[in-house]
Amino acid sequence: ICWSENGGWHRPRVQPYGPISLDPAASVLHYGQEIFEGIKAYRHADGSIWTFRPDQNAQRLQRSAQRMALPQLPEEYFLQSLKEAIKVDGAWVPSGEDQSLYFRPFMFAKEAFLGVRPAKKVAYYLISSPAGAYFSGGVKPVNIWLSENYARAGKGGTGAAKTGGNYAASLLPQAEAYEQGCQQVVFLNEEGNVEELGGMNVIFVFKDGTIVTPQSDSILPGITRASILQLAEDRGHKVERRAVSLQEWRDGVASGDIVEVFACGTAAVVTPIGLLKGPGFEDVQPTGEVALSLREELTDIQYGRREDKHGWLVRLDG
Ligand code: PMP
Repeated sequence: ICWSENGGWHRPRVQPYGPISLDPAASVLHYGQEIFEGIKAYRHADGSIWTFRPDQNAQRLQRSAQRMALPQLPEEYFLQSLKEAIKVDGAWVPSGEDQSLYFRPFMFAKEAFLGVRPAKKVAYYLISSPAGAYFSGGVKPVNIWLSENYARAGKGGTGAAKTGGNYAASLLPQAEAYEQGCQQVVFLNEEGNVEELGGMNVIFVFKDGTIVTPQSDSILPGITRASILQLAEDRGHKVERRAVSLQEWRDGVASGDIVEVFACGTAAVVTPIGLLKGPGFEDVQPTGEVALSLREELTDIQYGRREDKHGWLVRLDG
């Protein structure tokens, strides 16, 4: 679907997958004015196809659009784009364990001009791709590298928006992580507080059952995180959203106050953190049952194996 300053949203259509033609002066290519989302479709045992909290992705896309000076896509258009995709691609939703169809909705500035200002012509697309189980042979802990040289986002920046530039900024530290034998990077903010991984939020479980997640204006507010915290609250855990310093993390693990550290996001759902590695140190992270049991509860809801008490599922077919 296209958008122009004068015409608003127009020309919704389904077209065969293929290259997008862009003017070489299209502003997205020069100034990175673009945003995206990630959301999955799940096939239930009876064959029906569902998605999880699409209103949350639609609203996050709207907040990203606001920050990146892009137009607001109405929530119902977002949902409709998922349903239209299922009409043509429904057969591609796999039915295996932990498998899904991954949707990538995205919006970008396609107006051709070289000045620096918000584009007056924009496009919203949705593509999809079958996603196998993130972990083969069971959930495995990830090792993470503490990036001291690089930040992902700064105060007042675009950290809370799902925009390509944040991911471009994380590529070099991600490469550094691989060199260090780690699969993911963890970023700190300028106050030395924990932000998030390149594509996942972080959650700590304390000895007394309190569950804590870092809070700051530059963290991408994950929908998996919000859902996990809700399930934890339902179970009676106290949940805190607050600043967590690296010092508190390392001291908490050393003293046994922190009993589990895990990461969460749409792709992997929940993954325990095995090792926190940084310049000159390597802390083995404690693992426990809370992360895996919350993971199981959430995936059970997504795949229709457990009651959806919060009304999070939305049917996409039929
Ligand atoms: N942080 C970042 C930087 C991400 O890219 C993602 C993935 N969208 C997340 C956190 C987790 O968000 P969600 O649970 O909505 O997938």
